[in-house]
Amino acid sequence: MEPHLLGDPERWLPAGSLEKRLVIITDKNVEKYYGNHLLNQLINYKPLLLSFPPGEKSKNYRTKQTLEEEMLRHHCGKDTLILALGGGVVGDMAGFIAATYMRGISYIQIPTTLLAIVDSSIGGKTGINTKQGKNLIGTFWHPTAVVIDMNCLLTLPQAHLINGLVEVFKIFITSDKDSFNEARHGIHKIMNRDFSTLENIIQRALKIKIDIITQDEKDNNLRMILNFGHTIGHALEKIMNYTLLHGYAVALGILVEAKIAELAGWLSAEDYQSIQSVFLNLGIAGSQLKKININTMMSAIKIDKKNKSGQARYVLLNGIGQTYRDNGAFVHAVSDDMVKKALASVSEA
Ligand code: ADP
Ligand code: ZN
Repeated sequence: MEPHLLGDPERWLPAGSLEKRLVIITDKNVEKYYGNHLLNQLINYKPLLLSFPPGEKSKNYRTKQTLEEEMLRHHCGKDTLILALGGGVVGDMAGFIAATYMRGISYIQIPTTLLAIVDSSIGGKTGINTKQGKNLIGTFWHPTAVVIDMNCLLTLPQAHLINGLVEVFKIFITSDKDSFNEARHGIHKIMNRDFSTLENIIQRALKIKIDIITQDEKDNNLRMILNFGHTIGHALEKIMNYTLLHGYAVALGILVEAKIAELAGWLSAEDYQSIQSVFLNLGIAGSQLKKININTMMSAIKIDKKNKSGQARYVLLNGIGQTYRDNGAFVHAVSDDMVKKALASVSEA
């Protein structure tokens, strides 16, 4: 992870890459910002650049098929190395292509959004959306390397910076109180993209996330804590027809799920308030939930992937930097009454 890595691919391309067929997969926005630049740096490798329209809507079967057929038309073989240059959409799509093309080829993640840096590029999850929902078809397929060029963050719109910061705070809130406090106090520097502050929190968040994932590769147990804020967050995204950015929905989800822990007596009012004040600094307030009908929310919660026997389950805090664990379980059922109470309390704040 360093600035200017994109300008110097020799530093991160695996040995033997000259004998490989390089395919850059990106979206039309990122192509303009960084695709052509990378293409120029790789001129000796004669790479193929394929791009598709930006946005979650493109993450579907059709795009996958179009890209794969292009690769086949260009005679890309089993020795192809894909460079996934872009945000989470590009990473998930290119990773899924790598997983199935000729029964699996290698790929490198080059995440260009903060969300992709701290979230989707690590952990090997790949996939596409269908009309039934997001990420329903996919597999685990690990990249050979993840290359992070911090300079890409300079062109990222502020809303997308905040989108990723929420996931950083999510990790700290569940797993690292010191980092939470440090990031909380440095929030103005972070929002102004002070490089060393930003780099420091990204490194810390990545370290925690990698620790969690290596302990639980197949998403069964410990990894569940990465879903903090996501039971409510996913329901909210669905209700809003995916018009709300993921991080914004998760931030509101974190407020509600932290409030549940406060109501249960595990999280102090003071700790709740420090979470609330961080998100206020990011421009996210619980009152944004006012427009959501509680019953609509309650039915949306019932169709979460983490559910068991139709019962929604939550990661619950046991203080900042700690999650509540019961008999080895990291997610817990909460009564509808409690959830409604938390929703009402957060939206009235
Ligand atoms: P995610 O937020 O999951 O990483 P996307 O892949 O959809 O999602 O990226 C969000 C948007 O930001 C897309 O429109 C994409 O083209 C654009 N984008 C990605 N990286 C950058 C960047 N470094 N600078 C500016 N825009 C970018
Ligand atoms: Zn998330």
